[in-house]
Amino acid sequence: MNDEHSVNAGDGEIDDAVPRRRRTRQALVSWGSRQVAIGGDAPVRVQSMTNTDTADIVGTAIQVKELAQAGSELVRLTVNTDEAAAAVPRIREQLDRMGIDVPLVGDFHYNGHLLLTQHPDCAQALSKYRINPGNVGKGDKKDRQFAQMIEVAARWQRPVRIGVNWGSLDQDLLASLMDANAARERPLDARQVMYEALIRSALESAQRAEQLGLPGHQILLSCKVSAVRDLVAVYRELSRRCDYALHLGLTEAGMGTRGTVASSAALSILLQEGIGDTIRVSLTPQPGEARTQEVVVALEVLQALGLRSFTPSVTACPGCGRTTSSLFQELARDIDDHLRQRMPLWRREYPGVESLRVAVMGCIVNGPGESRHADIGISLPGTGENPAAPVFIDGAKRHTLRGDDIAAQFIALVDDYIRQRWGVPAEAGS
Ligand code: SF4
Repeated sequence: MNDEHSVNAGDGEIDDAVPRRRRTRQALVSWGSRQVAIGGDAPVRVQSMTNTDTADIVGTAIQVKELAQAGSELVRLTVNTDEAAAAVPRIREQLDRMGIDVPLVGDFHYNGHLLLTQHPDCAQALSKYRINPGNVGKGDKKDRQFAQMIEVAARWQRPVRIGVNWGSLDQDLLASLMDANAARERPLDARQVMYEALIRSALESAQRAEQLGLPGHQILLSCKVSAVRDLVAVYRELSRRCDYALHLGLTEAGMGTRGTVASSAALSILLQEGIGDTIRVSLTPQPGEARTQEVVVALEVLQALGLRSFTPSVTACPGCGRTTSSLFQELARDIDDHLRQRMPLWRREYPGVESLRVAVMGCIVNGPGESRHADIGISLPGTGENPAAPVFIDGAKRHTLRGDDIAAQFIALVDDYIRQRWGVPAEAGS
């Protein structure tokens, strides 16, 4: 038996480019002096949604603040009743008083035409509306009620996301596509018809909104489904057929690890292909878990793909039989917590600090090598190794830490590194 195998030699540079974004029309979502551009050459934006009762003004304002401070650039609220619509301007006022200028997006179903026309203060306090064409109304009411909402958006110059969801797909459209499919010589399978219905619902609604006077650049589209494969298929086709800005998200992604993995997989495939202008990770919070977790995951997805930088990254090895103590796990966690806690302040004081790379490694097998690749890295002593922890800064070994407070010593070195590299030099003589 011949065990030989061949390996092809590369013939040039290996492509490691960050994906080229597909060019879409650019919408501007604003509140006061805050302007969030979506689409075009703007960065991929992170959205989130509250899960409080919108009529609870204080509770909702606090959650919006938390989501905004976690990094959400737009926050969506359910607007489902007169009480909720009346609360929206009050929530906006509270946020303004707290110095939170994140734009608010109103989510409307069934009665949006009434709420937007009967509560002009709500229509004005919202910076963007989300309309689900499957939940606008039935029969001839549908066109009239959709038109009422678009007219309000055009009057207040608010962008609109036409958000189709496969759980509330326009049943008339689906039925007519099913009939047409059944009449084909070789009918497509039901899944293909569902894809087409989602895409058509979004595109036809967008076309109608433009005919009603909403400029095309103020229209964003989404077609949400709950399986990764379906989402990828639908958005590839949607992006091929239009240049509206697209909002990505896997709907009903689920809880915990499952929801995080499914959302990350779906969003990453599409973002890597340059598809997507805003994202939301729809996680069901575990009991007691903060709503902000969905924002943390969205930011991590964009950062992992190299599309945006939000927080310094901490590279930590997984640990193995060479690390019998939990010291390096604790250090990795402490560093990560320390960086996240300081970021709101550092972002202002040390512009660019989000690109910092820290390494925390468990032994000398990969520790020194990985630490050299980071801006600042530490290689802790593994089992049986000399109890000393070399610290590498900008690729060179600069310190060796010993004793019971290695974590505190290393955190002090990280702080010092940040100050020196990103701090504004003090004026001479000041
Ligand atoms: S760096 Fe050392 S401790 Fe960490 S996984 Fe590799 S061999 Fe194990």
